[in-house]
Amino acid sequence: MACVATSATVHLVVEKDPFRHFANELRHADLTIGNLECVISAKGKPIDKPYTFRAPKQALPLLKKYFSAVSVANNHTGDFGKAAFVDMLNSLDQQSIPYFGGGRHLREAHQPFIREIKGKRIGILGYNGFFPRSFEALDHVPGSAWLDEDFVIQGIRQAKHQLHVDFLVVYPHWGWEYQKLASARQRAMARIMIDNGADAVVGGHPHVTQDIEVYKGKPIFYSLGNFVFDGFSDDDTRTGWLLRITLASDGSMDWRVREAKIDTLGVPRPGRMLRADHFSDADPVLHRFSTSALRADYFFINSRR
Ligand SMILES: [Zn+2]
Repeated sequence: MACVATSATVHLVVEKDPFRHFANELRHADLTIGNLECVISAKGKPIDKPYTFRAPKQALPLLKKYFSAVSVANNHTGDFGKAAFVDMLNSLDQQSIPYFGGGRHLREAHQPFIREIKGKRIGILGYNGFFPRSFEALDHVPGSAWLDEDFVIQGIRQAKHQLHVDFLVVYPHWGWEYQKLASARQRAMARIMIDNGADAVVGGHPHVTQDIEVYKGKPIFYSLGNFVFDGFSDDDTRTGWLLRITLASDGSMDWRVREAKIDTLGVPRPGRMLRADHFSDADPVLHRFSTSALRADYFFINSRR
């Protein structure tokens, strides 16, 4: 079986390992993916936007310890400018920490992360759809892969047909903050992803968990919510999900979600578990779960310096 654990936004507290309460959950997977929602670099200056996040390079060993790959497709990896972004990519390369959803130019930014596990090729494509669009990678400009319909269709088809990915996860950074139900655009885009070959869609950004849907038998997790992330005070924003997808050799898929309860320092602790059999594939209507019953971890690193 190939397991894929994906985690939500992580805001890293480097003085003490903020992942420690999830060490077992994160390690017991063949592949562990997180969204790195900050820049790791001492270079650059904060750009003109409401919140800017960066972490020191001491954060890198923690990423390496827990994650197989991180997504840099989000609205914070560009917070300190292009030079800081590229400096982070260089550091990730030096530490052999794979990343996806961003790169030194358009082509690199749109490449999927692929790893073969137990005879199956698992692929992950990351896209950012939340402003500022200045973070977008262009032909000769570093940045994130922009969540554009044409790019997404092209990326999925390339992964499935040219790169022979058996199981493809699309990992979009999207949606409106603090909205517990996905928007019409998220729903439309998720359908386009699955219509073109995605096997699962796992999203984030809204700081809260959103609903889960099944479309053509494929799960859509619109938002995993926060994971390692401080600065929030209410229960919804201090609840995230660690999603675990398990693939059987016959190609069937199972998933479950572990709730993460985030303390005042931004450190998540394991909460309740919800399994895939809590919802029926025969009922493709919106499945709204109680947010207090679910949790996934989203990987976001931030330091307030
Ligand atoms: Zn975000």
